[in-house]
Amino acid sequence: MFESINKVKGDSVFVKTLSREGLITKKELNILRKKSKNDERFFSEVFFESSPHPKEKILEIFSKHYELPKVDLKKKKISPFVINLIPAEISQQHNVVIFKKIGEIIHVAMVSPENSQIVDFIEKKTGLKIVKFVTSPDDIRHALSKKNKISSSSDDLLRMIDLNIEGDHSRDLSPEKMADMVPVIKLVNSLIERAVTSNASDIHIQPMEKTVVVRYRIDGILNKIAEFPKNISQAMVARIKIMSDIKIDEHMAPQDGRFQHDVNGQKIAFRVSVIPTLNGPKVALRVLEMKEKMLTLRRLGLNKNDFKTIKNEISSPHGIILATGPTGAGKTTTLYTLLQMLNKDGVNICTVEDPIEYGIENINQMQIKPSAGLTFASGLKALLRQDPNILMIGEIRDSETAGISINSAMTGHLVLSTIHTNNAFLVPQRLIEMGMQQYLTGTVLNMMIGQRLVRKLCPHCKSKTRKPEALIESHQMFIDIESSIKKLKKVGLVNSNIKIDDLKLYKSRGCKKCSNTGYKGRMGIYEVLKVSEAMRRVIIMDGGEQAVKKQADKENVLRMADDGILKVINGTTTFEEIIRVTKE
Ligand SMILES: [Zn+2]
Repeated sequence: MFESINKVKGDSVFVKTLSREGLITKKELNILRKKSKNDERFFSEVFFESSPHPKEKILEIFSKHYELPKVDLKKKKISPFVINLIPAEISQQHNVVIFKKIGEIIHVAMVSPENSQIVDFIEKKTGLKIVKFVTSPDDIRHALSKKNKISSSSDDLLRMIDLNIEGDHSRDLSPEKMADMVPVIKLVNSLIERAVTSNASDIHIQPMEKTVVVRYRIDGILNKIAEFPKNISQAMVARIKIMSDIKIDEHMAPQDGRFQHDVNGQKIAFRVSVIPTLNGPKVALRVLEMKEKMLTLRRLGLNKNDFKTIKNEISSPHGIILATGPTGAGKTTTLYTLLQMLNKDGVNICTVEDPIEYGIENINQMQIKPSAGLTFASGLKALLRQDPNILMIGEIRDSETAGISINSAMTGHLVLSTIHTNNAFLVPQRLIEMGMQQYLTGTVLNMMIGQRLVRKLCPHCKSKTRKPEALIESHQMFIDIESSIKKLKKVGLVNSNIKIDDLKLYKSRGCKKCSNTGYKGRMGIYEVLKVSEAMRRVIIMDGGEQAVKKQADKENVLRMADDGILKVINGTTTFEEIIRVTKE
């Protein structure tokens, strides 16, 4: 797609700057112009590569001319996630490297900042905002060679270990002893590092009858990447068990654990599951950090009104935002998404969590450990001494944590947390039951987000139903579909002229791709309750669920079921799913 780009750009202003600074003579200029035209490359690239002047001097002038900061990539630790946001070939071809990601912003080092096509490409490909830096071709090569080195060296490593194990006497060693052997440690490390650099989400180590197969899941598909003789399998599994701090000598029961591993200077978290099979232990590793990329507000599947509300409310500098729902409703993902949006330079974000599900760059994350006296409450107290702007607390589950959270919000912090209630409207009542003052509760709450996860209809086997009216009628007794549709029309999420019989409702038969369930993937349904001034007064006077619901109805706030029905009407899920998750 890039062949057609015309890279021949004289850029006369730039050339003037260069000759004014004495970096180029007229003769050199003519030669370089010709070269740039022949090679179809940007003038700045050609100039950089052929200029006898020191790199620092050229960068200085580039930086001034383009009014962009310069960056020395050789001094940067670049996360493999970040550099891999665009393919290596594109980076190489266009002399461009993504070297940092903060929230929804990426820092991009370029030799030719005037290459607007590549900027557009990166913006489209990543969906992130770009901040440009100038750098030298040498820096780009350095950054890319580091990236490539990992995969090629691990290939050699695999071959080397293969031979070693085949040839020598390591057969006689116990798996525990083998787990400490340098080649085994190197092998496991390289498998892990390679998985991360190739953007795998999971690593599977599966014992077969005579061999052990390693597979990576990349973009949802499992790819076989290596096969070893069986005897190395035990050593690998023992090694992984040691890393994740689980029992080496337990062979009968499934075990879970987690560990962190340093990949290119980045701490990456892995979740480990070991299960016994007929052929020996099977190991599955989940790369937890991979999800970070997916944490955008759009991915949560909010309707456009909720999307706007959250986007507005999140910019408030203080107060409390709570996600609520039962375990497994996706609260944590919502919270991390909000954190990612708030994660900017100059903002100090601290968290206390249990467990830390994703490591996020630039955020100070603390794991609670009640056995060592580190609870949500004590962790929170410690964090407050770190001068944070934003605090995230894994869960408010006792009055001490609730109290400190409210005090922090009162003293100018934005606090994000989860709380266990059935719906968003119950949150004030729950806090008051925990012993919080009604007045304070009403004053500090900014927004409550209630949610559930529903299964999505399988896109491969879903089809329109012929009689939407009949389908609605048969479910109306379990869930008030008609009044939800009325409400959705009122808030502009459903076209007010649409008739029930015009609705497009879907059913699915089930197929191979969805294992005959008719469903594939899951999405959230939400109720987003922004605390308006009127709502504040209601909470201060009477924080009970009924009073809050009454006021919310006045403000046309959608309930979870309304949002769910909107998603049925959109053809994404079914009435059965909405009934299942809202009636539990
Ligand atoms: Zn299907």
